[in-house]
Amino acid sequence: MKQWLKVFFLLILPALIGFQAQAQAQAQAQNSTPTKEINLYSARHYQTDEVLYSEFTKQTGIKINRIESEDNALLERIKSEGSNSPADVILLVDAARLWRAQIDGLFKPIQSAVLDKKIPVNLRAKADSDGTAWFGFSTRARLIVYNKDSVNLSQVDSYEKLAEPVNKGKVCTRSGSHPYMLSLIGAMIEIKGQPATENWARGMVANMARPPRGGDTDQIKAVASGECGVALTNSYYLVRILRSTKPEDQALVKKISFVWPDQKTSGTHINIAGGGVAKNAPHSKEAIQFLEYLASDSAQSYFADGNNEWPVVKTVKVNNEGLKMLGAFKPEDVSVAAIGRNQIAAQKILDRVGYK
Ligand code: FE
Repeated sequence: MKQWLKVFFLLILPALIGFQAQAQAQAQAQNSTPTKEINLYSARHYQTDEVLYSEFTKQTGIKINRIESEDNALLERIKSEGSNSPADVILLVDAARLWRAQIDGLFKPIQSAVLDKKIPVNLRAKADSDGTAWFGFSTRARLIVYNKDSVNLSQVDSYEKLAEPVNKGKVCTRSGSHPYMLSLIGAMIEIKGQPATENWARGMVANMARPPRGGDTDQIKAVASGECGVALTNSYYLVRILRSTKPEDQALVKKISFVWPDQKTSGTHINIAGGGVAKNAPHSKEAIQFLEYLASDSAQSYFADGNNEWPVVKTVKVNNEGLKMLGAFKPEDVSVAAIGRNQIAAQKILDRVGYK
């Protein structure tokens, strides 16, 4: 064989075949759909979430990568990641925090006929441009708990009454600047206006049994011990104690009772856990798909049950023992967007009256 033929068969031909095989593999890789996924930044982590997320992957083939953290840490992380953030979906608790994330430009406005139909108008917030910035997917109520020995129900059956002289030295709350309190005050501003809300806040400060401190569960414990006569708590903290089999919790339950505030007037203050699509979401189509999934009947049950909350989709049946213990009530119908908008005014009121 001639020398050049040898070179062709031994070196050039294999190289050509190699090139072709490589090109074919590349073409195949480009044609086959890449693994679909979303990056979920979530401030919630409950047992039922495992089923909630795996069911979505089963239905859609979309894998969920979870980044779970406490609300503030999560928001700081997204901000520091900036336009490179891989976040697709952001889940947070409380309208105050969701609104803050919106103001900070962390949400991408979205359009979804499914979500518009299923999520009540007062439980979602419009974006500045066209579309919705965030949606509520479960609700929680802000309840009044009181000591059965030292307080009469009729003295504490509205938020307003907690600020009246009859409750002097009896009232306990967590810090006024906590999102749960800011949202309650934001709703009050919407219902009663700023001057009346400021009077209320001043009355609350005058009635404190101790300076605001601790979380909602700490308020319940202080009511049971008698240090406080009456306090405010989100419903799921109370449910946790009501359902607890620990002897110390059962002892607490014997000392306290709770009331749905404002049942004859505007209704009990309601807040949400919710979320939206992240501003720079690399997979925004799949992110919307995920939010629409959260509004489905089965997902609604898992989402709400995880923290003993109520589903937002009206057709979903509630089958949660803890919520049955609380019974039915009249909720306020203030919009979560308005509650968000009123945060700054609420904080200013707190500063003026010295509500720490
Ligand atoms: Fe909480």
